[in-house]
Amino acid sequence: MMKVSGDALVLVDLDEQKQIQASLEESREKYRGLSEAAFEAIFFSEEGICLEQNRRAEEMFGYTSAEAIGRPGTDWIVAHDRLHVMQKMRNRDENPYEVTALRKDGSTFPALLHGKTMRYKGRTVRVTSLSDITERKRAEAALRESEQLLAAIIEQSPVSMGIVGMDGRIERINRRMIQTLGYLPEDIPDLDQWWVRAYPDLAYRAEMMTQWSELLEQAMAGNQEIEGRECRVSCKDGSNKTMFIYGMLVAGKVFVILDDFTERKAAEEQIRRLAFFDPLTRLPNRRLLLDRLAHALVSSERSRRCGALIFIDLDHFKTLNDTRGHEIGDQLLVEIAVRLQACVRQGDTVARLGGDEFVVVLDDLDAGGFAAAQAEAVAVKILAALSQPCLLEIGLRDGVSSAVTHHCTSSIGISLYSGRQQSVDELISRADLAMYQAKAAGRNTLRFFDPAMQAAVRARAALEADLRQGLREGQFVLYYQAQVDGDGCLTGAEALVRWQHPQRGLVAPLDFIALAESTGMILPLGRWVLETACAQLAVWARDPARAQLTLAVNVSAREFHHPDFVGQVLAALGTSGASPQKLKLELTESLLLDDLDDTIGKMRLLKAQEIGFALDDFGTGYSSLAYLKRLPLDQLKIDRSFVRDVLNDPSDAAIARTIVALGQSLGLAVVAEGVETAAQRDFLASIGCSAYQGYLFGRPVPAAIFFDSFCAPDPCRGTGAIEGKR
Ligand code: C2E
Ligand code: MG
Ligand code: MG
Repeated sequence: MMKVSGDALVLVDLDEQKQIQASLEESREKYRGLSEAAFEAIFFSEEGICLEQNRRAEEMFGYTSAEAIGRPGTDWIVAHDRLHVMQKMRNRDENPYEVTALRKDGSTFPALLHGKTMRYKGRTVRVTSLSDITERKRAEAALRESEQLLAAIIEQSPVSMGIVGMDGRIERINRRMIQTLGYLPEDIPDLDQWWVRAYPDLAYRAEMMTQWSELLEQAMAGNQEIEGRECRVSCKDGSNKTMFIYGMLVAGKVFVILDDFTERKAAEEQIRRLAFFDPLTRLPNRRLLLDRLAHALVSSERSRRCGALIFIDLDHFKTLNDTRGHEIGDQLLVEIAVRLQACVRQGDTVARLGGDEFVVVLDDLDAGGFAAAQAEAVAVKILAALSQPCLLEIGLRDGVSSAVTHHCTSSIGISLYSGRQQSVDELISRADLAMYQAKAAGRNTLRFFDPAMQAAVRARAALEADLRQGLREGQFVLYYQAQVDGDGCLTGAEALVRWQHPQRGLVAPLDFIALAESTGMILPLGRWVLETACAQLAVWARDPARAQLTLAVNVSAREFHHPDFVGQVLAALGTSGASPQKLKLELTESLLLDDLDDTIGKMRLLKAQEIGFALDDFGTGYSSLAYLKRLPLDQLKIDRSFVRDVLNDPSDAAIARTIVALGQSLGLAVVAEGVETAAQRDFLASIGCSAYQGYLFGRPVPAAIFFDSFCAPDPCRGTGAIEGKR
């Protein structure tokens, strides 16, 4: 009896088929059980002829066993594979290989062929199994395709990408990454090389490596995504790039994406620069200063340390700008910025507020009185540094650039802070205020903020607001003060404005005229005075007894220099119908000097209309014969301050005498102001003064009681028509 051993069956020679049939029978049941259960098609053959096939072979190829037995085994293989299969068989090759299998119906499919040759009783039997690998092939093709697709995507991607194996080998980097960083795959074969080349700085490398391993661990424990972070990567050419690096774990590999943030960073930086820095000097601008100051106040509160805000304004910068041009002015500002930075410590802020205003913040000064001394020391250093001559290029002329030496000084205001007792705005405005004090003190100096100064400023601001309201609501009234001739007879009046304030009561002009002048409110106010005075003149003109009275109106410099001043005076006269000969304009010396030609021009125009001019407060100003001669004046008014002490102070008496003599030599009438006593009047008369104004004759009063309050001294030999009460 024949034995079957192991998983293979040994068959006998084909010619002796019959003889061995019997012996096969026994074993057949055994192998059938095995081969029928098999998933592959199994064939038994001798010398290439099929002896037997299993059921799966029948299903797979379509031949019944009857059809199969006796057929050459190559019938199951497509023609072009047959030679190859036969060679393998001859060589008794037992390695599996792929073939294209052929079905009975002519259709084909990929199969994996596994042959095994066995010897049995001197005969050679081959067992061949064929498994259908259509699915596997399809899957492989699909995989290949998706791999190709992935490779193409990675390669064509506009962002830099790389694939790293878990062993740290860098399996692939794409073209973009090569372009961006310059490294070729051979430069960075693994992560070790990458760390060394991309992060040459040891400390930074260590930081990046720690971060990376933490992020990787998180990704492995979580959703496989590696969180991104910004890195400063060194390129092959030595330059640096800002890359945003992130990735994900896919199929046991690390897929890394490197986004080039360099340009975006540069743009961000540019935006930040524009928003927070002055483009000319590159110093922090006002916005950044406010922000830093706010932080400085908070940290001063925490640390209980003091700080100082130093406000610096260049002296006469406008003149340089106007005379030499803005480019030269800009050069100076840049130079100032450099010098300021050299005067302070690293952590201190130097900012440009705008124009020629700079601010330095010292934010770590000792508490108590020391802070002031420290701030002052820095401010003194700044004053000295800024007053050094500065060489400014004044452009090309004939191809050669020339330079000019500019001497610049500055005025400094300092405001100290400690904690958050005051707001940032308050702090700046205090230093600003102190700076103005420095300017007022003659420039090129420094001043600390002083609370009394602030109270004055507050009061001024309140008065200004009230003044505006007063103008809107017509709270002004005109008072009239008598002017008399040598005989004490009324010749006219001076109009003096008063402010009937709802809370403050009657406010004297000395308390608001200067403010009205500096704010420009003098223009509407002066116009109102002029119109009211002209209207009053017109009223008097209608009464023959008063028709000869003149009216003097004070005109401030700002009003007089207004381009339309002449027009306004003429309009006031025209509208009221008042006689120009009765109107007298009182000007002050400083006004005349402002722009002598313009002044003379305007005076002549008005003079041509027979309007008179008096020079007010004479003696207190620059009193120069040179200009007095050129001006078409009618009258000089001896200032009240000389009249007051004319009897006791020999020099005042001398001045009064000189003014009278001067008037006489120039052919001008002389009026003494502020005559309060008969003795004063008598003295003035004795030196040749023949016109007076003062409490002796009457105080400034409203028009309605003007004539009643006029005190005509005894004896008045005037017109007789105008006789006031005694
Ligand atoms: P001013 O033009 O020199 O006016 C004379 C000032 O001396 C007036 O003060 C007047 O009240 C005062 N006064 C007159 N007689 C006496 C006296 O006997 N004793 C004393 N102690 N004072 C006397 P007031 O009215 O306070 O005006 C002050 C200044 O305000 C004026 O000085 C004038 O410069 C200015 N002012 C007044 N009204 C106007 C106005 O309508 N426009 C302009 N621009 N300035 C005006
Ligand atoms: Mg006057
Ligand atoms: Mg006066």
